[in-house]
Amino acid sequence: MAIPDTNTLAGFTWCTLIFFVFICSRYFLVSGIFYGIFYYWFRERWGKYKINLQAYKKGQFKKEMYWSTIAALIFAITGALSVGLWQNGYLKIYIAPSLFPYWYLPVSLIIYMLLQETYYYWLHRWMHIPKVFKIIHKIHHDSKISSPFTAFSFHPIEALLQAIFLPLVLLIIPIQLYVLILLLTLMSLSSVINHLDIELYPSGHKAFFAKWVIGATHHSLHHKYYKYNYGLYFTFWDVLKKTESPYFRQLLNRFSKHSEEKTQY
Ligand SMILES: [Zn+2]
Ligand SMILES: [Zn+2]
Repeated sequence: MAIPDTNTLAGFTWCTLIFFVFICSRYFLVSGIFYGIFYYWFRERWGKYKINLQAYKKGQFKKEMYWSTIAALIFAITGALSVGLWQNGYLKIYIAPSLFPYWYLPVSLIIYMLLQETYYYWLHRWMHIPKVFKIIHKIHHDSKISSPFTAFSFHPIEALLQAIFLPLVLLIIPIQLYVLILLLTLMSLSSVINHLDIELYPSGHKAFFAKWVIGATHHSLHHKYYKYNYGLYFTFWDVLKKTESPYFRQLLNRFSKHSEEKTQY
């Protein structure tokens, strides 16, 4: 399908609509599949990795789907605006992988993730200032126990603040189109994994990955206690700024075969 010319109102509206349908269907499909696998079809297998054993609040999923649909619209508008910037030659998205040395493909992905981590960590800290929290971040924290449907459940202003990161950096740092698509996929997948409330990453002595890459245990502590664990993909900012939950590392071990401790926190 050809990308509509976003310089016309009709083209811009059409582009926004395509993005909206795509982002919405992807949200419902991915979150639905995760829910199906971990909470329904293979519940027995994954139940032992569930972090919070309390039942979800009545109507929580519906609310999360409502806010996620609005957030998808914000992401779609930002997406269409970015396409407009690209079509007018402002964004540094390139197609031919050989335009830069091949090592730059993974390096650009890492640079984008580290920048996004830094932007999100400090944005998130700012959103927890009580006055700001009440207006733009409370919607997300209404899910005290997160679910796969919490992944996009944001107030529209929070959705916008998250969405503007990419077009701003795309003005400056080159990235190949498929690397950008990979980054967008990782963003969406990690959000579902972090809100799953079921730990998927290996624990015990193999927990190196789970200690440095954020998963469900890390982010569930944020939803429960508010004042710890503000990171997005990686734990290093929380370690550096001493905002990591004191329960985090011991909770990761809880899922280890060798661990005696099975109690809830
Ligand atoms: Zn928060
Ligand atoms: Zn969250």
